[in-house]
Amino acid sequence: VVELGMPTRSVVTTCAYCGVGCSFKAEMRGDELVRMVPYKDGGANEGHSCVKGRFAFGYASHPDRILKPMVRDRITDPWREVGWDEAISTVATRMRGLQERYGPGSIGAISSSRCTNEEVFVVQKMVRAAFGNNNIDTCARVCHSPTGYGLKQTFGESAGTQDFRSVAQADVIMVIGANPTDGHPVFASRMKRRLREGARLVVIDPRRIDLVRSPHIEAAHHLQLRPSTNVAVVNAMAHVVVTEGLVDREFVDARCEGFEEWEEFVARPENSPEATESVTGVPAGELRAAARLYAEAPNGAIYYGLGVTEHSQGSTMVMGMANLAMACGNLGRDGVGVNPLRGQNNVQGSCDMGSFPHELTGYRHVSDDAVRTVFEELWGRTLLSEPGLRIPNMFDAAIDGTFRGLFVHGEDIAQSDPNLQHVTAALESMELVVVQDLFLNETAKFAHVFLPGASFLEKDGTFTNAERRVNRVRSVMRPKAGKHEWEIVCDIATAMGYPMSYDHPGQIMDEIAQVTPTFRGISFETLDKHGSIQWPCNEDAPEGTPTMHVDSFVRGKGRFVVTNYLPTNERTTSRFPLVLTTGRILSQYNVGAQTRRTGNVAWHPEDLLELHPHDAEVRGVQDGDEVTLASRVGKTTLRAQISDRMPPGVVYTTFHHPVTGANVVTTENSDWATNCPEYKVTAVQVGLAHPL
Ligand code: SF4
Repeated sequence: VVELGMPTRSVVTTCAYCGVGCSFKAEMRGDELVRMVPYKDGGANEGHSCVKGRFAFGYASHPDRILKPMVRDRITDPWREVGWDEAISTVATRMRGLQERYGPGSIGAISSSRCTNEEVFVVQKMVRAAFGNNNIDTCARVCHSPTGYGLKQTFGESAGTQDFRSVAQADVIMVIGANPTDGHPVFASRMKRRLREGARLVVIDPRRIDLVRSPHIEAAHHLQLRPSTNVAVVNAMAHVVVTEGLVDREFVDARCEGFEEWEEFVARPENSPEATESVTGVPAGELRAAARLYAEAPNGAIYYGLGVTEHSQGSTMVMGMANLAMACGNLGRDGVGVNPLRGQNNVQGSCDMGSFPHELTGYRHVSDDAVRTVFEELWGRTLLSEPGLRIPNMFDAAIDGTFRGLFVHGEDIAQSDPNLQHVTAALESMELVVVQDLFLNETAKFAHVFLPGASFLEKDGTFTNAERRVNRVRSVMRPKAGKHEWEIVCDIATAMGYPMSYDHPGQIMDEIAQVTPTFRGISFETLDKHGSIQWPCNEDAPEGTPTMHVDSFVRGKGRFVVTNYLPTNERTTSRFPLVLTTGRILSQYNVGAQTRRTGNVAWHPEDLLELHPHDAEVRGVQDGDEVTLASRVGKTTLRAQISDRMPPGVVYTTFHHPVTGANVVTTENSDWATNCPEYKVTAVQVGLAHPL
């Protein structure tokens, strides 16, 4: 880290990496960021930070940044730098041309959880009002869309139930499919503090994450399940709760519905820990003990991550955890709840802002006439009542020839999405791909127009973290490319014939508040006054809502949903005998577009394939060998790391580098309700890349 001398000014803003949403003072000298200092009054972090927030800001001034708009006719042509006016008019003219030739639904956009709420809001507004369709989706599609679906079905709101502080009251903490010490380090520190004070820990994960055994912390139970069997495990835990008389009857009778049908279902012998042991790989006695520990705790809290959602039954599992928490009365107070640990800085916010093809802001369905009317009156356009295309539907329609133009905002779909061969075929078949981003990423290789975006240091707006906390993002400098990202989007909409303009992103937030009941009390002024606010914030909760569902659920009664376990279609075979699952490491971030450009050269240079010693031995693989990783859809090469963190038969890698590209092998399988890809389960074979 190069320190650039004494700062001359500082601005309080929010880290742009993970969903913890830590506040920092960005200390500046002129236009140079000298250092990021964790902000002690930050509601999410209270003065703490991790290495990424503190030291991984070098990408903002990296020479790879593109600072001029560029266009080209064909993706094989060289880029041509142009002015903003030409770039905007190229996008608008070509998008309109596609609609004239192929119909109004032939174009769409993908918004980003990396961007501010205000930027996401204007992108979905552009699609709905200027494009005239609902073909807007968000990168949350590929991570936490099952959270949105599952928590809405059971509790009535697509968001986590608690604030981070709540973990300090938990007696039992159950971590399911998450690796907080790598993925959410500052929240992990809060969790570890509580565990060191004596709270008990249950980890449900195929991989032995650090939390299972770390200084002064030892999980009471690590249920090392087979990938794809989450639902069988949660049903078996529920079976124990129901059949051993551990249900909180008072809570269930007063606050829930659908209990009897669910009780009859989970009590069936086929859902018992003993009956499911051969499926899940979890010893029945261990599972029973874990279920009792959670159910009997005064306060039991569930924290979960993408190991829950990125499955063909991701939504089912979210509802399974909600069922379990309701049955044990673990909702509506401190120390309990069902809490998604959101990956990106603004996953919660991008979903809140109406960037799903079926929902307007605040998770209200596009088919709701009364809701649509509010937007139509304000925006002066008739909105469609039918949901638009999801990201995978866009790809399919592109290959079919009916979807021709895509605006991609801050997401590298050609590296992050599964089954990359299909993604790239879809991108190649489109007549217009517009990428708005910082760097010429993998997706930009297929783009016809590149619009340079702004780093978090150049943004003004808000991010919403995993605890629904809306944090201010304050710019420390003008956008290096000359335009705010929300301004670019407004200019495109205007050039397409739908005038959109704002003087300041605070005006966009005012519009969000006007059309969104859960944001009614949020403005830049109230945020500056309170520091941050957790939604819902409105006349009923003027200072926000740290804990949800306190006296009743948002939907009235909490709803038990029967969660049948269905095996994934992804089966191991003699050709593909291992199961690949994926995750990430502390010092890298998702596709690495930012963290690979921080100048911190010592940080983990490559993706590795973790392989159990037994699986390595039978393949003649030594630690550090180059190996091939192949599935039925693709093949890549990476270096092996022998590790007993995974059980035999399961391998693990990260996806931070385009060269090794784990998503070359991940498949088209996805969650039945939301199409969230099944990144966590791919049947693969591993072999020496250069056999002797
Ligand atoms: Fe940033 Fe997340 Fe680290 Fe906090 S925990 S500093 S939000 S990456």
